[in-house]
Amino acid sequence: LMRLYGPLTSLSNVHVDVMTALVSFDRVFEVLDLKPMVAERPGARPVPDGPASIEFDGVRFTYPAASEVSLASLESVARPDPGPGHEVLRDVSFTARPGQMIALVGPSGAGKTTITSLVSRLYDVNEGAVRINGLDVRDATFESLRDTVGVVMQDAHLFHDTIGANLAYARPGATEEEIWEALRAAQIADLVEALPEGLETVVGDRGYRLSGGEKQRLALARLLLKAPRVVVLDEATAHLDSESEAAVQRALKTALDGRTSLVIAHRLSTVREADQILVIADGRVVERGRHEELLAGGAVYAELYRTQFSGE
Ligand code: ADP
Ligand code: MG
Repeated sequence: LMRLYGPLTSLSNVHVDVMTALVSFDRVFEVLDLKPMVAERPGARPVPDGPASIEFDGVRFTYPAASEVSLASLESVARPDPGPGHEVLRDVSFTARPGQMIALVGPSGAGKTTITSLVSRLYDVNEGAVRINGLDVRDATFESLRDTVGVVMQDAHLFHDTIGANLAYARPGATEEEIWEALRAAQIADLVEALPEGLETVVGDRGYRLSGGEKQRLALARLLLKAPRVVVLDEATAHLDSESEAAVQRALKTALDGRTSLVIAHRLSTVREADQILVIADGRVVERGRHEELLAGGAVYAELYRTQFSGE
């Protein structure tokens, strides 16, 4: 477990499993044949106890050169290459106080996902620092970072394994009752109960095929079982049917309640509730504030609102 997760952000499903499902990292590396990009420092300490604050302090970040990345070929297919050495984050600073929800909005490619990936230290910053409860994540043990931060990406990935096993990755040793409790809170217990094999149902491409909304709710159940102090969430844009949409929203509310969260927001309801909205453009925070303030400001957020959110 002391080796760590390298350039995984590009594979969002893997990212989920590494950070949320908490499979053995070795297993992931075995599958992907990746080299870790960051290492645990000698003398690393656990993230300090207590409700979590997150601080980005003058963060600048450039992705490592593609030649060092074993997934380079996948990358180039997946996204236009902005060129080597392209600085993706340029002086990003903000603070999330314990229990706050920070919403990240902005155009595609602005750097939102990159910001969230630095919280769990998928990469190291080039300048500045990311701190949780005052501890630079570079000085934190991998184990405590993993326990502190839970990630749910848009495209929740499940292993070809039973529902019970997929959940138990989040907290080895969880009792069946705890698993059911998480499933209920995530609004997915009824579905699992109705399956002939219940928790023993094998899911995945070769097993029982879950819908997008069902997968998301299982990912949320995993998160609830793990109960991390920090939640990183890439809100789904995929259009779920309205019933599962409402269920996902209820599950999300439970999952975020009382935790510090960074949410890449695609919904008006989320940005309205956020304690702080950060408008990200070209690797910078160009506006920050609450919904009404930013809307009244009539600048970048107001335009985003008009094009992205006003339909709701
Ligand atoms: P957003 O989430 O706001 O759409 P991203 O953080 O995904 O933006 O991307 C910001 C910039 O970083 C883009 O130019 C993107 O091409 C680049 N980028 C994202 N992930 C990687 C990666 N794994 N390797 C190299 N460049 C990347
Ligand atoms: Mg993104």
